[in-house]
Amino acid sequence: MQKVLIVGGVAGGATAAARLRRLDEKANIIMFERGEYISFANCGLPYYIGGEIKEKSSLTLQTPESFKARFNVDVRIKNEVTGIDPISKKVTVSNLLTGEFYTESYDKLVLSMGAQPIKPNIEGIGSDKVFTLRNIPDTYRIKEYIELHKPKTAAVIGGGFIGVEMAENLHAAGLQVTIIDMANQVLAPIDYDMASDVHRHIESKGVKLLLGNSVRSIQDTGDFLKIALNSGEFNADMLIMAIGVRPDSKIAKDAGLSVSDSGLIVVDDHMLTSDKKIYAVGDAVQITDFITGMKGSVPLAGPANKQGRIAADNICGLDSSYKNTQGSSILKVFDLTVASTGINEKTAKKLALNFDKSFTYSPSHASYYPGAVNMSIKLIFETPSGKILGAQVVGYDGVDKRCDVLATAIRANMTARELTELELCYAPPFSSAKDPVNMAGYVVENLLSGKVKNFHWHDVEKLPRDGSVILLDTRTVLEYENGHIEGFINIPLDSLRERLSELDKNKPVYVTCQIGLRGYVAARILSQNGYDTFNLSGGYRLYISIFGAHETTPISSGLNPETQRPEEVKVNFTEAGKIINLDACGLQCPGPIVKLSGALKEAKFGDIIRISTTDPAFGSDLEGFCRRTGNILLKTESSKGILVAEIQKNSKPLDTFNGAVNNNKNIIVFSGDLDKAIASFIIANAAAAMDRKVSMFFTFWGLNILRRPNKVKVKKDFISRMFGLMMPRGSKKLSLSKMNMGGMGAKMIRGVMKAKNVDSLEDLIKMAQSNGVELVACSMSMDIMGIKQEELMDGVKISGAAAMLANAEESDMSLFI
Ligand code: FAD
Repeated sequence: MQKVLIVGGVAGGATAAARLRRLDEKANIIMFERGEYISFANCGLPYYIGGEIKEKSSLTLQTPESFKARFNVDVRIKNEVTGIDPISKKVTVSNLLTGEFYTESYDKLVLSMGAQPIKPNIEGIGSDKVFTLRNIPDTYRIKEYIELHKPKTAAVIGGGFIGVEMAENLHAAGLQVTIIDMANQVLAPIDYDMASDVHRHIESKGVKLLLGNSVRSIQDTGDFLKIALNSGEFNADMLIMAIGVRPDSKIAKDAGLSVSDSGLIVVDDHMLTSDKKIYAVGDAVQITDFITGMKGSVPLAGPANKQGRIAADNICGLDSSYKNTQGSSILKVFDLTVASTGINEKTAKKLALNFDKSFTYSPSHASYYPGAVNMSIKLIFETPSGKILGAQVVGYDGVDKRCDVLATAIRANMTARELTELELCYAPPFSSAKDPVNMAGYVVENLLSGKVKNFHWHDVEKLPRDGSVILLDTRTVLEYENGHIEGFINIPLDSLRERLSELDKNKPVYVTCQIGLRGYVAARILSQNGYDTFNLSGGYRLYISIFGAHETTPISSGLNPETQRPEEVKVNFTEAGKIINLDACGLQCPGPIVKLSGALKEAKFGDIIRISTTDPAFGSDLEGFCRRTGNILLKTESSKGILVAEIQKNSKPLDTFNGAVNNNKNIIVFSGDLDKAIASFIIANAAAAMDRKVSMFFTFWGLNILRRPNKVKVKKDFISRMFGLMMPRGSKKLSLSKMNMGGMGAKMIRGVMKAKNVDSLEDLIKMAQSNGVELVACSMSMDIMGIKQEELMDGVKISGAAAMLANAEESDMSLFI
C-alpha cells in the first residue's frame, strides 16, 4: 500500500487526491490544507462579493467530511506543511489549531500550494482598508467590510482578470470603482488594439480607468485612503490589490528542489520535480508555453486541474504527460466577453517571430435572425506557413465558442487556412453558414495567397498626405461624412468601377471601409485593374475604437453586419400611439438630437420615438432636451454599446413649451486664455456662493483649462497628437490674452494675484468643484481637438450642445467667454 501526501487542498491538490483514489483504492492518501476550506470555487469568489452568487455554501464544493465519504481521503484542514525532508521522505506539519508540530512520512508527495497575491512593499499597504483576494476568508473579509463600513469608493490596483472581475463586482455592490494599472491597457493577455473596446465598455458602465499609473504609497487617514500615484493623488474608501501572484513554493525551495529564478517549481512533463518521489502541480510550477516552448507561469485553474490528474496517473503507474500550456482564458466584463488563447502580438514581436495578424468583425449568428451582435476576432499567425499562434475574441455573444474552436485548432497545430475547412454547427439562431471562425480563415487565406495586401491601424499615421499615394474610403457618403480618417477621399464601393478614372494608376492605393470587407472587395477591383492596393485590416471601426474620442462605432445588433448601417426603419403601432424606431447609430452630437427633433415634429401626440444611438453624450443631452421641449423621456437603456431611449411626444407643441426659468447661471467658456479663465471661475464661484446652480460648458480652446498637467498615455492619430502638443496642457500653461510677453505676463499676473491674496486659477477651479459648479466638456470639441476623457481632470462631465442649451433655458444668465 503506497502512502501519498498532498500539500494544498484546492484545485490541483483535490484533483490529484480524487484521481489517486479512483486509480488506487488501497492507497493511504492524506491531504494537508492550511486554510479552513478545501476544493472551493476560487473563480467564483468575486461574484459572491458582487451578490451574483448569493449563498456562502455555493463557494465550497467539498468539505473534509464529504471528501472523506466520497474518496476516503484523510483531509487535514488547518494543517500547514512547514518543511520537507526528501532524504528521509518526511514532511513536518504544523497543526494550526493546537500549535503542535508533527511529521508524516510518504512514498510519494504532491505539492499544490498555489500562489500568493503580490503585495508590493509600499508605505500604507498594511492598512485594514487594503485587501487582496485569493481564498474564502479574503472574500468574507471584503464582503463584511462593505456591509459594515458602507464604503462609497474603491480603487482596484491592477487591471488583470481578478482586478477587472473585482471592479465589476464592487460596482455591482454599489461602489464607485476606479481601476488603476501601470500599463496602458487592462487584460495583458490581449493586445492594446483589442483592449480598446474593453476600455470603452468598462468606462461606459461607470467604472473609471486610470491607466499608465502606478501606486507609490497609501495613507490611511482614518476615514479614507489617500493613494499617491505617479500622476497625482487619488482618494478611495477601500483598495483591492490585484497586481498578480507569486508562486507559493518556499517549502519546495527550502527542501532543495529545483526552482526557477521567479520561484516556480521546475517539473518535467510527468509533473515530477527534481526529486523522483515528489510531484508538483498548479500555480506553483513552471510551465512550458505550447507555442513558443518558453518557460513561464500561467496561473489558471484548467492547467492546475489537468496537472493534478497527470501527477496522480504517474504515481499510479500510468504514463500520462502534460503537453504544455497555451493560456486559454476568458472573462466576463459586464456584458462583454473577452477571450484569448495562444500568444499575443506583443509576445510574437518580442520573440521576433515571422508573423502577421488579421482582424475580422462578424455577427454571432445570422444577421437576419434577431439578436445578432458582432464580435471582433484577432488572429496572429506565422508567415508564410499560416500556423495559428494566437487568437483574441471580444464580443457579446458566442465569444467562448469561437475562442474554444480556435484553442482546439491551435492544439491541433492547424494553419489559419485550415479554419476555412472547419465544418461548424449552423442554424440562424446559432451562427452563420460561414461561421466567424471560417471568416477569419478566409481573410488569412486571402492574405497568404496574395489576393489582398493589408495595412494596419498603426500604419495609418505614417502614410504620406502629399498626394504620392491615394487614400480611399469606400463607405457610403453618409458614413464618410459621419467620420473618416484624415486625408482619405470618399468613393463608395458601389460607384468605384465607374469612377476608376479618377484614380492615378501609378500611385499605390490604401483602401478603407467600415470593417475591412468592402475594402477587400474594392482592393480586388482595383488590383485586377492594375492598381497596387492595400486594405486597412479591421477598417475604420477598429481605427476609431483605438483613436476615437468617444464616438465608438456600434458594436451592435440591428445593423447590417457588412455596412454597419441601420437596417430599414420598422414602424409598429400600439394603442397609445405608434412606436417609431429611429436608428441614429454612428451619428455624433448633434446628429442624434437633430434626427430626434425631426422625428418628433413629424410624430403625432402620444407617439413614442424609440431612438438607438452610439453617441455617448446623447444620454445627457436627451434629458435636457426633453425637459426643455416638454416631451416625455420614458426610458433609456444602454446595452452592448447602444443607448436606446424612448421619448413620447407630449400634447403641447414643441415650440410653445415654456418651462420655468430658474436663476441658474450658464457659462460657456470658449477661450483658453488665463485671464478669461480666471474671470470665468471668479464669476462661477460668486454665483455658487449665492447658492445658484452654475454650469460651465468648456468648448474649443476652453477645454485646455480642464486638461491634466501631466502627459496621459492615450492613442491618438497624427493630427490630434500635433494639436495636443501645440495646445497648453492644463491651467498652469495658459497664457494671457493680452501682454503675454512670451509667458512673462502670465507669471506676473499670478504673482500679483498671490500678493493680493487672490486665489490662483487652480484654487478657483478646486473651489468651484467643491461648491458644486458643474464642469462640462463639450464632446464635439473634444473630438475635433483630439482631446480624450483621460486627459481631463477628474469630475468633468462630457456632454453635447443640447444639454448646454437646456441649461441655458433654465438660467437667467448665459455668458460666452
Ligand atoms: P490553489 O487552488 O490556490 O490551492 C492551493 C492551496 O494550498 C491553498 O488553499 C493554500 O492554502 C494551500 N497551501 C499552500 N501552502 C500550503 C502548505 N504549506 N500547507 C498546507 N496547505 C498549503 N482560473 C481560471 O482558470 N479561471 C478563472 O476564472 C479564475 N478565476 C479566479 C478568481 C480568483 C479570485 C482567484 C484567486 C483565482 C482565479 N483563478 C482562475 C485561478 C485559479 O483559481 C488557480 O489557478 C488555481 O486555483 C490554482 O490551483 P492550485 O492548486 O495551484 O492552487
